Amino acid sequence: MAVSFRMSNLRHIRTGEKMECLWCGKPLWGRSDKKFCDAGCRSTYHNARRKREGEEVKKVNRFLARNYNVLKSLDQRHVKCISIGKLTEMGFNPGYFTGSRIPGPRPGRKAGTVVYFCYDYSYTLNRTHLYLHSVRKEI
Ligand SMILES: [Zn+2]
Repeated sequence: MAVSFRMSNLRHIRTGEKMECLWCGKPLWGRSDKKFCDAGCRSTYHNARRKREGEEVKKVNRFLARNYNVLKSLDQRHVKCISIGKLTEMGFNPGYFTGSRIPGPRPGRKAGTVVYFCYDYSYTLNRTHLYLHSVRKEI
């Protein structure tokens, strides 16, 4: 059965001293730390929260997988530099990466340059281009 999820159901509604069930919003009576009117509301609330969290993880994983595939295809074609415009056309989203670090200066790289990682690929970005490095251990 599909559960319709409403963000408002995740909020702990507190109106003065009046407490409401986190799932259905009915007034609560009894202990002050009570959050749900019954086990059914508690279970439905937690199931909906887990489902939402799972969907968020899947969404981020899809972006990371797409970015990884773009970097892999560049690597396979020995492309070391590509414009952000072309990257975007290929489906790359620079907002998603698996890690980043600022290594010390070395010839050819400005101090403070952020190196981004997408699994074992690493790259740097400037305003117009992405520069693909090789695997993580070589940084
Ligand atoms: Zn309830």
